[in-house]
Amino acid sequence: MSGHELEIDEIIKRVKELKAGTVGLQFPEGLKLHAVEVARRIEVETGATVIISADPCFGACDVADVDMNGVADVLVHFGHKPLPLNYDMPVIFVDASSKMELLGSVGNAMSLLEGYKKIGLVTTVQHLKQLEEVAEFLEQNGKEVVINEGAGTTWGQVLGCNFSSIKNLDVEAFLYVGSGNFHALGITLFTDKPVIIADPYLDEARLITDFSDRILRIRFARIAKAMDAKTFGIIVSTKKGQNRLDTAKELKNLLNAEGREGFILLLDDVSPEKLLPYMDLDAFVMTACPRIAIDDSSRYKKPLLTPQELEIAIGKREWENYEIDEIKYGGLNNKNK
Ligand code: SF4
Repeated sequence: MSGHELEIDEIIKRVKELKAGTVGLQFPEGLKLHAVEVARRIEVETGATVIISADPCFGACDVADVDMNGVADVLVHFGHKPLPLNYDMPVIFVDASSKMELLGSVGNAMSLLEGYKKIGLVTTVQHLKQLEEVAEFLEQNGKEVVINEGAGTTWGQVLGCNFSSIKNLDVEAFLYVGSGNFHALGITLFTDKPVIIADPYLDEARLITDFSDRILRIRFARIAKAMDAKTFGIIVSTKKGQNRLDTAKELKNLLNAEGREGFILLLDDVSPEKLLPYMDLDAFVMTACPRIAIDDSSRYKKPLLTPQELEIAIGKREWENYEIDEIKYGGLNNKNK
């Protein structure tokens, strides 16, 4: 059906076992094109009525259990692993593992890994099933591979808001298998170790250094711009996996204690358009998805900071202690310091 394993037979079996009369389906953007075909098969083979969640789905933080509760008997969520959250209804999580070949780009990474013996290996959920194959390849090429699990993430997995699986690993360098630069940037900032990306989508390998320097320069410019801000909008997401109201309240108190004002803004999806009515505020702080402030920074007219960046802007954290923002799952708490 696609370049992903959608595990339809298994889903049909589970739906029959649960005797579900109505089944909710939720796909991340990249898999939505398969929604109708999956719905058709489930309806034909189980007799259930399928309801497709057509809203955007941004990640494991954004499961439609609240919307589907009372609408469907079970929700099938594709493309992510569950977070340690309480879901309002039965949810079947389907990894939707990629079938993409990884060893080509990993092979390309070998020259960049030269001189490093002990390698930390990580990826995102789509490629987890192939991580063992990648580890074997590295070991056959003389590397010692270290893979760990995190708080709220499984063996070898990083999320854009959760880097716990790579912290305190005794390795000389990291190999991140996947697309984009964001995850590798997070690993660099948390570990200060060289990070090499094996990107199967571009069939190439690259070192993250130049990119992380550029991003940090942009972040420091945003922080500098917010230093004189007197009024802040503190953004809180209603999405269960992104909601950090406690953090927002703490930031509000911190701002008040510094003689500045913070106003909490509660939103579902965050976008520059939704902030337009609040442009009389001097700057914004993002307690929702940590990626938004970094990835979409240029789309916002006013400085948009992470909680840690706010601390720097108001003199509560040293520039040298810059950290990328994380959402701490795993029952730790909602606080992020
Ligand atoms: S909060 Fe952001 S980085 Fe974390 S799972 Fe959601 S979309 Fe991904």
